[in-house]
Amino acid sequence: MSQAGVIDSLHFARAALEQRGVLGLEQLQRLAKMQCSTERLEYHLRGGRASNGKRCLRLSVRGSVQALCQRCLDPLPVPIAIDAELQLAENLREIAEADDEIDRVLASRRMDVAQLVEDEVILALPMVPRHEGCVHHRVT
Ligand SMILES: [Zn+2]
Repeated sequence: MSQAGVIDSLHFARAALEQRGVLGLEQLQRLAKMQCSTERLEYHLRGGRASNGKRCLRLSVRGSVQALCQRCLDPLPVPIAIDAELQLAENLREIAEADDEIDRVLASRRMDVAQLVEDEVILALPMVPRHEGCVHHRVT
């Protein structure tokens, strides 16, 4: 398993670098605390330029997360297929004051790739995970 590292985000975008890797639950502690688990999440991070000319990171994540159904407390598989374009913001004010639909992340010289992936995966999970019908999952 390749280790997700730390990137200098602006340099990564400017140089159009790429990184692929696989994350397991041991690198995703916030997911673990949310009572979620995963065997593997594959990610692909690419640096580039957004259509408006700003530097950005394009992140794809594929895999599956097992959440806990909040109704019957059985595992609930949630497929993960994320394709995000994250514009690099120079400061938090730029993020707070933006009133468009663009996703932004704070540019950092030491951006933790695993955390970035985890942030996006958490955003992709349902607020209250529930089976559509729990009855099939119950042991009678
Ligand atoms: Zn359920």
